[in-house]
Amino acid sequence: MHRSIYLDCHATTPVDQRVLAAMLPYFTEQFGNPASVGHLYGWEAEAAVQRSREILAASIQATPEEIIFTSGATEANNLAIKGVAEANFSQGRHIVTLATEHNAVLDPARYLQSLGFEVTILPVQPDGLIDLDLLEKALRSDTILVSIMAANNEIGVLQPLEKIGAICRQHQVLFHTDAAQAIGKIPLNVEAMHLDLMSLTGHKVYAPKGIGALYVRRRNPRVQLAAQMHGGGHERGLRSGTLYPPQIVGFAKAVELAIAEMPAESDRLRGLRDRLWQTLQPLGDIHLNGHPTQRLPGNLNLSIDGINGQALLLGLQPTIALSSGSACTSTKVAPSHVLKAIGRSDPLAYASLRFGIGRFNTLEDIDRAAKATLNTVQSLRETHPRSP
Ligand SMILES: *Cc1c(COP(=O)(O)O)cnc(C)c1O
Repeated sequence: MHRSIYLDCHATTPVDQRVLAAMLPYFTEQFGNPASVGHLYGWEAEAAVQRSREILAASIQATPEEIIFTSGATEANNLAIKGVAEANFSQGRHIVTLATEHNAVLDPARYLQSLGFEVTILPVQPDGLIDLDLLEKALRSDTILVSIMAANNEIGVLQPLEKIGAICRQHQVLFHTDAAQAIGKIPLNVEAMHLDLMSLTGHKVYAPKGIGALYVRRRNPRVQLAAQMHGGGHERGLRSGTLYPPQIVGFAKAVELAIAEMPAESDRLRGLRDRLWQTLQPLGDIHLNGHPTQRLPGNLNLSIDGINGQALLLGLQPTIALSSGSACTSTKVAPSHVLKAIGRSDPLAYASLRFGIGRFNTLEDIDRAAKATLNTVQSLRETHPRSP
């Protein structure tokens, strides 16, 4: 059976063989619990976790004690947002975030709203970028947290973290970023960006699913955070639960590899992405979603006039695996809140394709994907002219 070309790297990525090789010993011979302090099994597991913590910390200019391992970015976002709110509510109950955030940020914010916190959700500009003036105007004396993502998971737009961080620092408001799509793809520096909290995950960067981390600043200022998981007091009491050394080792290895290969790989992905966009131009009536250059190198998100997005996705499915601009909730299909936030109409939001190009995609993949898209759109336009 011939597998389709995988172009959905914002959803998840395969584990790199080099990452898997680094993980394997920790499933079998070196299977100890890092919390076991009385024997070699525990010590070697703890040493592996510590090395990984150092690698991850160094990759963002943090210190090892500032890395809290979690099950992924969803958990890290929940710990950051709810943890800051709970620990700082006596100082204020106002939180600022962005309309294009992942639901793993918006939903914890909405949950806090239900508990009596006030949440300002800033709109974005038509190119998907934050309006820094609006951010500055939104900050109040009772604002305790700003949460603005690093790279968008649908349109790939990169927010200006350094400028946002400078504004937050000036107003003495904590700054959190969801960097699930950014780690290993763009340089991240918690000092230059004035970050106080940053959520990371492994499975978008060729590590396995089920591992992530929250960076929590320890000095200038020391972030006050309330644990959301209670138990054995692991991770400095901030996240109880036995650590998972194979996943942690794989996560660190994946980030290390991605950062070492970033300059060449970014250029290669950008080249493939731009070639795909150029090749699709003869379709006519196609619209780029998100800023043309301030975006992840492997991201292309576009809307096509007069096409039914679900029909297009189904038509492409034997050749290409990718996503469209609709989020299927349990009950209904809704247009993407990100595409709506940049001002796309419902029909254009539905008629969108998100190409997520990654490490294992070749030039041949891209040319085959472009050809399949051209053919499928043309045949849909012939059979269903101007369908919504
Ligand atoms: C994938 C993703 C998440 C969720 O991460 P998990 O590790 O799967 O929980 C959160 N935010 C963004 C921007 C993402 O792309």
